[in-house]
Amino acid sequence: MNIILLGPPGAGKGTQAELLQNRLHVPKLSTGDMLRAAVKSGSDLGRKADVVMKAGQLVSDDIMISLIRERISLPDCGSGFILDGFPRTLGQAEALNTMLHEMHRKLDLVIEITVNDAALVERIAGRFACAKCGAGYHDTHKAPKVAGVCDVCGSHDFTRRKDDNRETVASRLQAYHLQTVPVLPYYKQQGILRSVDGMAEIKDVTAEMDRVLKNLSK
Ligand code: AMP
Repeated sequence: MNIILLGPPGAGKGTQAELLQNRLHVPKLSTGDMLRAAVKSGSDLGRKADVVMKAGQLVSDDIMISLIRERISLPDCGSGFILDGFPRTLGQAEALNTMLHEMHRKLDLVIEITVNDAALVERIAGRFACAKCGAGYHDTHKAPKVAGVCDVCGSHDFTRRKDDNRETVASRLQAYHLQTVPVLPYYKQQGILRSVDGMAEIKDVTAEMDRVLKNLSK
């Protein structure tokens, strides 16, 4: 099954994609994670992406499309994938359609996770993760059970994304409204767009997504 999770930064795409990949047994492909890995590696692409990401803007379509083309051609995507953070522009959406068509594949479902902007700023500005295992936390909503110790692996090291601050969030939200929202009607027209309420609790969003998936296979 080939699925896209769409939604503004902080809507919970990453969290839901992670949970969904365990249920559907297909990999989650996060373009944000791919770019952060490139930044960490110090590659040419990483250096270019770092500047753009720190400004809360979007990396160019050319770069993103070739990243995704390479990634979905790998054998682990043979029975499907969950895209988290791609497409973010109409150009990326159209290129994805073309590349899937060439591969004799198609998109099954696009799930939009909706959240209001005021909640997003608060969500994003408080989030952090374990530096060792990547488990996600939040200052107010999901603090570790023992302060300073990861619930999952016991590590004492935590990191915050460089772009998870109030100033950059404003630019990221603006990029979402201007460049990504126009992608929604594109998928609506294809009849594969469904929306879930991302303001609900994580487990309720998951349940809602399961309902959408069940209806799809009917
Ligand atoms: P994310 O982890 O999905 O919030 O992405 C973090 C940042 O990576 C974004 O703010 C963009 O700068 C960049 N990025 C991730 N995915 C894309 C994409 N599909 N197109 C352009 N830029 C992207």
